[in-house]
Amino acid sequence: MGSSIRLFSIRGIDIRLHITFPLILLWAGLQFGLRAGSLESAAFGVIAISLLFVLVTLHELGHSFAAQYYGVPVKRIILSPLGGVAQLNQIPDDPKQEFIIAIAGPAVNVVAALLMAGIAAAVGVELGNPLLALGGLGGLTVASLFVYVFYYNIILALFNLIPAFPLDGGRIFRSLLALRLNYVKATSIAAIVGRVIAIMMGIYGLFSGGIFLMMIAVFIFSAGTQEARMVKVRSVLRDVKVHQVYSPSVYVLNPSSTVQQAMNMMIYGRQRNFPVVDSDRLAGFLPYGDLMQASRSAASHSFITSIMRRDVQSVGLDDDLFEVQRRLNESQLEAFPVAVNGQFLGMITQHQIAQTHQLLRKTSDTSLQSQSV
Ligand SMILES: [Zn+2]
Repeated sequence: MGSSIRLFSIRGIDIRLHITFPLILLWAGLQFGLRAGSLESAAFGVIAISLLFVLVTLHELGHSFAAQYYGVPVKRIILSPLGGVAQLNQIPDDPKQEFIIAIAGPAVNVVAALLMAGIAAAVGVELGNPLLALGGLGGLTVASLFVYVFYYNIILALFNLIPAFPLDGGRIFRSLLALRLNYVKATSIAAIVGRVIAIMMGIYGLFSGGIFLMMIAVFIFSAGTQEARMVKVRSVLRDVKVHQVYSPSVYVLNPSSTVQQAMNMMIYGRQRNFPVVDSDRLAGFLPYGDLMQASRSAASHSFITSIMRRDVQSVGLDDDLFEVQRRLNESQLEAFPVAVNGQFLGMITQHQIAQTHQLLRKTSDTSLQSQSV
């Protein structure tokens, strides 16, 4: 995570600022400053946007706490000029859980809006006309900042409720459809609706000269396509278990193998990743990237045990391929050793998973079609 800076941590979740974050503050300062031609309005812009990001953080914490409630680990929240993202380990495909996790974010904004309206009424701040307030030209006072943030908080909630992936509204919409339909079907309908909305946004942006809106439209359009594809892949791969596709016979190294021997095996054996096995027990793993790096730096006769990874997780025979693929992507590896209680059984690779997916895709497409008739 070299591209972001940790601010603080709450319930095990790191809140991080992306290094490009200051750009949004700069943009706000310039935008507001130039419009009113004063340093005071520039300061207004910077403070208002900072406050808005406090609300964005609370929104993401809403998602995060809901996810934690269902036992889904939350890795971090990253704040960037485009907004906030809570990185969940996986999004549950139980429609009820997805609904609660997705709606928890906008719900935080609704609660914040109610609280702020209450405070405004109690201390006598006039919330007034949103169109005037959103211009943000009311001068640098606590009241004008308050009113500005109040309305932007509402916009934040409404924008996120637009039913298009990857916005919360898209997930809420899908989860509601998934109460009645199968998950793949629900996703493809939600993705189509999202893409239609994106196209309308794009057209509106084109005619109104809203470049930012057009960028969002492109982003939403491709997110819809991606989500639909991902869910299809998942539905195909989840029914396949490791024991159905892994290779039990692969080249292995033993603790007394050298880097040179591993290189030879790679070149002549056409295998890129090597389990290190010590009399049937899995002792370590040597991924392709590590071997290449070692071949450049380490002495070729040094033992494999000095460079192998001892912490690589193995997969079991009954793990499903989607989960294995997710873990491979996460750890940026091409393969995992397969082992049960430390006993080495074989290896499973990205390539094998991709091939299995290729083969199964067609059969699952036809079964989907027959279901919808
Ligand atoms: Zn959200």
